[in-house]
Amino acid sequence: MKRTGSSKGAVRHLRVVLGDQLDRHSPALADVDRNHDVVCMFEVAQESTRTWSHVARTAVFLSAMRHFAAELEEGGITCDYARLGHHSCDSLEHALAEAVRRHRPARVVMVEPGEWQIEQNLKATCAELNVPLDLRPDTHFLVSRDAFAAWAGQYRQLRMEHFYRKVRKDTGILMDDSGEPEQGRWNFDTENRGSFGTRGPGMVPAPPHFAPDAITRAVFDDVRRHFPGHPGDLASFGWPVTRADALLALEAFMRDRLPWFGSVQDAMWAGEPWLFHSLLSAALNLKLLNPREVIDAAVTEYHAGRAPIESVEGFVRQILGWREFMRGMYWLDMPAMRQANHFDHNRRLPSWYWTGTTHMRCMHEVVGQTLAHGYAHHIQRLMVTGQFALLAEIAPREVEDWYLAVYVDAVEWVELPNVAGMAIYANGGRFTSKPYVASGAYIKRMSNYCSGCRYKPEVKSGPAACPVTTLYWHFLDKHEEVLLRNPRTNLMAKNIGRMKAEDRQAMRETAARMLDALDDL
Ligand code: FAD
Ligand code: SF4
Repeated sequence: MKRTGSSKGAVRHLRVVLGDQLDRHSPALADVDRNHDVVCMFEVAQESTRTWSHVARTAVFLSAMRHFAAELEEGGITCDYARLGHHSCDSLEHALAEAVRRHRPARVVMVEPGEWQIEQNLKATCAELNVPLDLRPDTHFLVSRDAFAAWAGQYRQLRMEHFYRKVRKDTGILMDDSGEPEQGRWNFDTENRGSFGTRGPGMVPAPPHFAPDAITRAVFDDVRRHFPGHPGDLASFGWPVTRADALLALEAFMRDRLPWFGSVQDAMWAGEPWLFHSLLSAALNLKLLNPREVIDAAVTEYHAGRAPIESVEGFVRQILGWREFMRGMYWLDMPAMRQANHFDHNRRLPSWYWTGTTHMRCMHEVVGQTLAHGYAHHIQRLMVTGQFALLAEIAPREVEDWYLAVYVDAVEWVELPNVAGMAIYANGGRFTSKPYVASGAYIKRMSNYCSGCRYKPEVKSGPAACPVTTLYWHFLDKHEEVLLRNPRTNLMAKNIGRMKAEDRQAMRETAARMLDALDDL
């Protein structure tokens, strides 16, 4: 890969491309002048060390960045690429300041960063150096930050479903000719909650594996050298790191897995990390793929009769609904979202979140596949690792940092609202109607995890008690009054009132023992 420190003349625009902005059609590159502009890209260790990042997460970012820079240079664009170990800048703002001093551009051009703190830091750096910053709206998303804020301003309660319906109407996606939702329903959520029963998922089509090329292998060497002891494994790394590979991954999902995605999208099965999921989140978040093209591909499958509505609507809802909604909420609520701690939880994250070494088979499976691949699907993140962190009263910052560290798709604008807003209710139900909690019976119904577990999902107290179940009842016990007042949790909370006094006491004692020794579970 060619590395040039200066353009072919005086530098007019320094175009900064961050690691999650790898879109050749980005507004930051739209009007690039090959003779007078320089594109700057920075690899900085801090992005992998401020949360103790999984090696595959770091490798996905660095490999995709290096491939992207190589493509720009092949297209005649001058790239000043700060490679890990080849510079002494410890942060993005430091690297930007050095680049500005080196090139003395008339202005810095970039697309608004995905992360609130990075935007603050880069703006401050440009202001300090007295260089104009042309910060352009991020057109990757279907709904701009301003449009989301305008929508949110009309409501007292912010709900994804209302937002999703509005965007469906505005875009015409999955709408019929008379302006009604396809097949007369906005939402096929009830058809999306199936499990595999006792027989399991059967043959699951293997997702494509993109064998590491020379660039990716060099990244592996750098990751091992610069981040020794970081969690995770690179042995099975096969993520798409170029747009061409991301398009192949998209095509394979549409062909092989989308038709089955809908009915079992919440189901889990030991030893089956991928199931019928798309595995496209990292490629989307790096911007190798555009959400619009992913949605269009799914809708095409529906109209061609190759995928049923519950799969296509279920998939479109995740991207057009949840992904856009989470991004909007993040920008609406930052920086307060990062401080939120509704329940005032302060316990440390159990050490087995970093090793998978626990007797709880559900946690062992989900943490294990997370460490092996940097991947877990939505329900594994929400109802296994996420809800356990809530029930175990873990400090939100500990939980948030873990999620930001361990997934290949982890970027704060989507990680934080999912963790603080959905999984651990740290923001007090700002955009959900209730905390997402369930006993071990839910995990038993949705997976085969409980069958090989030392604990019993139906047992609330004593040595065989399932920690998920015991801590679920403990949560209801502790928050009974508030939960009784909420119509969405009233039924659940009434159950604790029906528990015999001695059973309740035994459950409390078991819960107290568990909470005191979370590392030993
Ligand atoms: P699929 O199941 O195939 O879904 C398709 C796409 O929909 C995904 O690729 C993703 O882009 C989008 N999507 C699905 N669910 C969500 C959601 N809840 N919010 C936003 N987009 C969604 N997603 C990330 O991209 N990065 C994160 O750091 C992240 N952290 C999460 C933390 C928690 C606690 C939870 C509950 C969810 C988190 N998610 C995150 C959302 C979701 O779990 C992942 O996007 C999904 O599992 C990625 O796998 P996939 O591509 O196979 O998704
Ligand atoms: Fe998890 Fe409890 Fe089932 Fe064990 S019994 S796998 S701890 S839900």
